[in-house]
Order: sequence, then C-alpha cells, then structure tokens
Amino acid sequence: MANFKILIIDDRFKDYSEEKKVLKEIVPEIKTIKNTETERIIREVEDADAVIVNLFPISNKIIEKMKKCRVISRYGVGYDNIDVSSATEAGIWVANVPDYSVEDVSDHALALLMSCVRKIPFKDRSIREGKWNLHDFQPVHRIKNRTMGIVGYGRIAKAFHRKISGLGFARVLVYDPYVSMEEVNKMGGEKVDFNTLLKNSDYISIHVPLNDKTRKMFSWNEFTVIRDRSTIINTSRGNIIDEEALIDALKTGKLECAGLDVFGEEPLPENHPFKEIDNVVLTDHTAYYSEESIKELKEKAAKNVLSVLKYGRPIYPVNEV
Ligand code: NAD
Repeated sequence: MANFKILIIDDRFKDYSEEKKVLKEIVPEIKTIKNTETERIIREVEDADAVIVNLFPISNKIIEKMKKCRVISRYGVGYDNIDVSSATEAGIWVANVPDYSVEDVSDHALALLMSCVRKIPFKDRSIREGKWNLHDFQPVHRIKNRTMGIVGYGRIAKAFHRKISGLGFARVLVYDPYVSMEEVNKMGGEKVDFNTLLKNSDYISIHVPLNDKTRKMFSWNEFTVIRDRSTIINTSRGNIIDEEALIDALKTGKLECAGLDVFGEEPLPENHPFKEIDNVVLTDHTAYYSEESIKELKEKAAKNVLSVLKYGRPIYPVNEV
C-alpha cells in the first residue's frame, strides 16, 4: 500500500466511513481537520497528497503551502471557495461532484409541482386550523393535457422530464439555447424560445445555473408575458427570479402558485413577504438532500482522489493540469 496522506477539511459530516471505504485500497487512514483549525490546516496541507474540502477557503496562500498535493476534491457542485487558477498553476487538479443530487432535486421539483397543483400544503394547513371546507382552494385543474415548460435542460431538468413523462402532458416545452433540438426531441419535448415557453406553459420548472445571463431572467416583463394562472417551480437558485416581481404576480393572481426551494437571501428573513402569501409553497434549500445523495457525494469526492492518485486524473475535473 502506498503511503499517501489524505486530508479532509470539513465541519459538516459526523463520520467518514464512505470515504474510507473508497480509499482503503491506497491508504489505511484518513486525516480529518475541522474548518476552524486554520493554523493546523496550514501545517497539515504541506505534505498532503490530496485534500477533500467542504467550505474552507483554499486560497492562493493555502495552495502555496502545498508541497505534494495532486488534487483538491470539493464536496459538492460549486467550487468558488477554491482558487482554481492558483491550483492549476501549481499543477494541482481541482475536482467537484456535479451530479450527486440529480435524482433528489428532480424529485423535489416534482413534489413542489404536485403540492401546488393539488394544493396539498394549503389543505393540510387548513385542516390543522380546524376547517373542513370542500370548496376551499378551488379551482383545481387536472394535469393531463396541459403544458409543461422546462427552463434549462441539463442533468436535473432531464431527470425531471423523465419523471413527469407519465403525467399525460399535452406538450413539454424546453428553453435551453445550449442544447440541440434532437436532444430535446429524444425525450418527447419541443425546443422553443423563451417567450414561447412563457406564453404557452401552464407550469414552469427552472433548472438553469445562476450567472449574468440568468440573474433575474424572470422579472416584471416575464411575469407580464407569462400565461395567466400559471405555476412556477424553482429549485435552481433564488436570484434567477426577481422576487419583488414574483410576489406581485402571486398577489395579483397572475400566477396561480409558486413552489420555491431557493431564495435571494437564505435563510429566508423572518418577515419575508413569502411567509404572508397563501399561494406559495416553501422549502428550505434542501432539494439536494437524501441519505442516498449524501452517500453518493462522499463516495464520489473520495473517488476523485482515488482516481488522481491511481490513474493521474479525477473523475470530475474542474481544471486541466
Ligand atoms: P446542469 O449544468 O446540468 O444544467 C444546466 C442547464 O442550463 C444546461 O443545459 C445549460 O445549457 C442551461 N443553461 C445555461 N444558461 C442558460 C440560459 N441562459 N438559458 C437557458 N438555459 C441555460 O445543471 P444541473 O445540475 O441540472 O443544475 C441545475 C440547477 O439546479 C443549478 O442552478 C444548480 O445550482 C441547482 N441545484 C439546486 C440544488 C438544490 O438543493 N436546490 C441542488 C443541486 C443543484
């Protein structure tokens, strides 16, 4: 067995048995350090062959200390806590785990959609308040023969599309300028422009990354164009929607309902207007979570390390060295 030193810098997990299982063929033990132990981290990275990190900032200063490190593997999709260009310059791979929660986020988007359509959280709240009124929360519309709009057609959106395929939608419209018509047609969807999707969808589910082009891509203008009484589901990032415009669209009844897992500010501030609006379903940015997704995250973060130390390249590289 080679004598590698593998360091986990993390504050989130209680045990590291998944990582140990993956790495046991190359190391008998893994060293773990809490995020807060900065001085120790600086000392320990010096002779580490690989680092697995959660949120601790791997800055240029930390990278300069790394004398042997071949890979920095991030627990998660984003890697903005790692100075990737300094790592590249130092010849260190940076790797992430982009796909550990695809099943979970797509399940969650479907759950939010169903909650809005069948009005389950509202009925549940009402029964607990002592009410039993069959005519509350009407009208409810049947999903069959309606139109679904999917914005962004990457991993999560495709899994979502697969899961809604049995619901009887008349049309599934997809807006994603970066995927081909063939890719969309393969699943039975129609590739359309953004305005066509807004005008024709009864339900819209958002699955784009947050960047300069997508920030506030749903704002006052879009909520004017959007189909009357449509429903919007957002499991991607809060700032993709202009929340002030969304609140107005929900209050005026332009939108029937919104199902939201993500917000411009998280945790959602105490007196946020979303908490006062009836036709919105809120969850606490946990679409990614299941016991299985966390196990997959831990295994894959460790496999990135194993793959570099055994074969010279991670499974999910972020840079090229
Ligand atoms: P992905 O990279 O696989 O897919 C994103 C898609 O968006 C790509 O097909 C891309 O072409 C498309 N896209 C990019 N810019 C666009 C634009 N301007 N207009 C239309 N389409 C555009 O990403 P994914 O893994 O499917 O993740 C989707 C979203 O889900 C991301 O915002 C991610 O942060 C979020 N997410 C949320 C949670 C959660 O817990 N709520 C967990 C994981 C991921």
